Amino acid sequence: VQGWPEVTMAARRSAGTGEVLVVGGGIGGLTAALAMARAGLGVRVLERAGQFAELGAGLQMAPNASRVLDRLGILQRVIEAGVLPRRLALRSALTGRELAALDVGGRFRRRYGAPYVVLHRSDLLAILVDACAAAGVSLHPGKDVLAVTDHGDRVCARCADGTAYRGIAAIAADGLHSRLREMFSDDAPVCSGFVAYRGTIDISQENIGEVTRCAALDEVVAWIGPGLHFVQYALCSGTVCNRVAVFRSRQYAAGEQDWGTPGELDDVFSACCPQVRTAMTALWRDRRWPMYDREPIGRWARGRVALLGDAAHPMLQYLAQGACQAIEDAYVLAGKLACCAGKDGSHLVPKALAEYEQARAPQAMRVQRTARLWGDIWHIDGAGAVLRDELFAYHRPGSYRYTDWLYGPVTEREERA
Ligand SMILES: Cc1cc2nc3c(=O)[nH]c(=O)nc-3n(C[C@H](O)[C@H](O)[C@H](O)COP(=O)(O)OP(=O)(O)OC[C@H]3O[C@@H](n4cnc5c(N)ncnc54)[C@H](O)[C@@H]3O)c2cc1C
Repeated sequence: VQGWPEVTMAARRSAGTGEVLVVGGGIGGLTAALAMARAGLGVRVLERAGQFAELGAGLQMAPNASRVLDRLGILQRVIEAGVLPRRLALRSALTGRELAALDVGGRFRRRYGAPYVVLHRSDLLAILVDACAAAGVSLHPGKDVLAVTDHGDRVCARCADGTAYRGIAAIAADGLHSRLREMFSDDAPVCSGFVAYRGTIDISQENIGEVTRCAALDEVVAWIGPGLHFVQYALCSGTVCNRVAVFRSRQYAAGEQDWGTPGELDDVFSACCPQVRTAMTALWRDRRWPMYDREPIGRWARGRVALLGDAAHPMLQYLAQGACQAIEDAYVLAGKLACCAGKDGSHLVPKALAEYEQARAPQAMRVQRTARLWGDIWHIDGAGAVLRDELFAYHRPGSYRYTDWLYGPVTEREERA
């Protein structure tokens, strides 16, 4: 990840470069907008929804992402809004027994130069919106982009309300169901047959006993079992508990239209340990998230258009990396486009976007593939599960040999230690 010189707002306004258009104002799009504004580019975000908002609840930010948030100057706010867990733990969903853990305290932070943070998605989005506005990004909710055309020397984004915007580049950060990805691939999202239920509860005097019986407030715990898992961690400075239940739907496998129903959720989790069964009560039952990814594609940039975040590399959430990878994309993209910020820089855009693709695609594709594999390992049954548990027992919580590739680079200080 390369840095770039800070430029003042005045310098940016006087640069007269034309804007970069960002299609989609989720975590990926807004982080990209912020990073590019900080790199001296004019940026306009076009978001389909009527307001900038995030659905769902908690989000885990590993150091590969929190390091970027630090460089963008918003990590302190993120930490204040979230929780710094001390450890990540895997437990058996059937017996409750701990299978493996990873310390993510001080040594971990020194090793990766940034913390593991968990926070509410809406808090992160609010911090990004504020920072974008302060950095001079033009934010436009209610803009459903129908198409982007590349005219060689500029791009044009046409919206459903009849408006059109010109720019020097278009960044498609329009998520899993990206319309602009059609410019790169005719693929479709791949349904995993798994579904997620989410929920939060306030941690009050009355229920703190119930919450901490399941897991300590400074732990991120995943109970894993055959075809299912359940995750719990605290958010919002420890005042809110986030819970997620995920399972393989037999209704989906049977070809039923209405699959992953609340009835199936209760049925599948009825075999779990008492902590998990108790924690299930906090889940929202009126919404669920069927889980999709896509096959990796290595081509994300063509001319003046590039994909970013879930539009480029949607992944299953088992490594908690989808948003983290989008944040990494954002920083690398801005670093590459920084050279286009000057008056005569526009012609450099296609080369910068190609370099961004080359810098990011191999790692993001690896994370996509590994997320599928990690899910298979979590959800395995029978003899495979016995072998997994035996292998996990050899893992030491302070060993980072399996996380360096994902959370690194490792800082020099920790390498010498
Ligand atoms: C259950 C679950 C748990 C997860 N947990 C984690 C985690 O702990 N850590 C982590 O890093 N990741 C996690 N993820 C993944 C993460 O949520 C996504 O990878 C991330 O939100 C992707 O961000 P994005 O900005 O690329 O896309 P999105 O968040 O999908 O944003 C896309 C935006 O584009 C807008 N848009 C779409 N089409 C158009 C259009 N035509 N015109 C204009 N705007 C448009 C949408 O309205 C939306 O605002 C999880 C995912 C799930 C399902």
